[in-house]
Amino acid sequence: MHNKTLKQLSAALHAKEISSVELTRHYLDRIAQSDLNAYLHVDAELSLAQAKAADALLATGSAGALTGVPIAHKDIFVTQDWRSTAGSKMLANYVSPFDATIVRKLAEAGMVSLGKVNCDEFAMGSSNENSAFGPVKNPWDKLAVPGGSSGGSAAAVAARLAPAATATDTGGSIRQPAAFCGVTGIKPTYGRASRFGMIAFASSLDQGGPIAQTAEDCALLLNEMIGHDERDSTSLTADQGNVREDFARDLDKPLTGLRIGVPKEYFGEGLSSDVEKAVRAALEQFVQLGATLVDISLPKTSMSIPVYYIIAPAEASSNLSRFDGVRYGHRAKEYKDLQDMYKKTRAEGFGPEVQRRIMVGTYVLCHGYYDAYYVQAQKIRRLIAEDFQAAFADKCDVIMGPVAPSVAWDLGDKANDPVANYLADIFTLSTSLAGLPGMSIPCGFGEGAKNANRPVGLQIIGNYFNEAKLLNIAHQYQLATDWHTRAPASI
Ligand code: GLN
Repeated sequence: MHNKTLKQLSAALHAKEISSVELTRHYLDRIAQSDLNAYLHVDAELSLAQAKAADALLATGSAGALTGVPIAHKDIFVTQDWRSTAGSKMLANYVSPFDATIVRKLAEAGMVSLGKVNCDEFAMGSSNENSAFGPVKNPWDKLAVPGGSSGGSAAAVAARLAPAATATDTGGSIRQPAAFCGVTGIKPTYGRASRFGMIAFASSLDQGGPIAQTAEDCALLLNEMIGHDERDSTSLTADQGNVREDFARDLDKPLTGLRIGVPKEYFGEGLSSDVEKAVRAALEQFVQLGATLVDISLPKTSMSIPVYYIIAPAEASSNLSRFDGVRYGHRAKEYKDLQDMYKKTRAEGFGPEVQRRIMVGTYVLCHGYYDAYYVQAQKIRRLIAEDFQAAFADKCDVIMGPVAPSVAWDLGDKANDPVANYLADIFTLSTSLAGLPGMSIPCGFGEGAKNANRPVGLQIIGNYFNEAKLLNIAHQYQLATDWHTRAPASI
């Protein structure tokens, strides 16, 4: 049952082959037996009550496609019924008075929440090792990281502890963990899914999206997640084109004539040979499906790391100033005066990576450094976005390359080396800086005794609002290949 896709589960629910209560109980049992540390908060009673309500709706015959299907939520989305920690000690006991818009929309579509899944603290990280509640293990190889920051979301789907999960992507946090765990994820165009109730990391980059087994499942989830939200000031409006659409409408379109841009910067030094091999084989598969490959250049790719690691910490330092011990979460027990309370609260509540970013962010925003770092980074951010537009203008319809330079590394390997973590983000950051939609689909495995069981992800990048096209391309690939159906041996 748990190897079924969301689409298949939906069909089984509508055909009354299984009830939502039975299905939910099945996943809750699996979660209880798992040792991956993917889930942070589970409340069986709450989940089963939602499932019961979904069954009642299914009995009337008027239920939607997602009714009764369980889902896990990244713990960066606030929820009224489950604690919302953002992977931080700062919010260890925080319960929100409202649900994030994405959570609310999926609940209104009838989905059953299985609980909250682990992530790097405030979504800062690439390995899930920055969570205050311990790292998640990669279900393919428990010695490996699951990727981050949405490591819990990707691991939960790969280990069949949920048919789907919500996630967020600021610089790769949907795509990279999806790649490391051999599942499918899509980050929509910036501004299409509401950030309301998504605990803010870097507001000009943060974007929510789904992780599931297939592109088809992601389409069904996006159908409910996308749309203007007046409570998010950067949410794109209907006038700007952010209308609800059927993201599954083009899934069956053939790929004949599709022009795939292959950026040379994504295949240079630093890319491991096994990832390159798997990605090039995927590109060949697309040629078989009628596409043509076009060499392109995204010359500012290497600048994306310094640019992102100035802009994201700058915004984080501002966003995280709200955690001062007065309004939310942790407050130091003993302090002399107000200043001392702030200092102790923040020193105790934030982990080392978050503190590092607050310091970097505060520094680059300082009077005297602002022009040299922050403003400069914003200018290059624009040039990075222009690189993509130059490619989409006349050379290609979509861009493909690896999601990450290597397969998942060992837990602990880069845990004390922030720069090594930052460098591994090289292929995902520019998409985020440009606000473009990006996708990760499984396309093979690494090589050698150590990596043969560690998945490789193919990245598909589209122009603004081209989510349906990305899903079409991914779906056609998934019809022709079976990487996305593979599950870890222990499943
Ligand atoms: N790995 C990147 C970082 O550490 C991206 C994280 C994300 O997308 N949330 O910031």
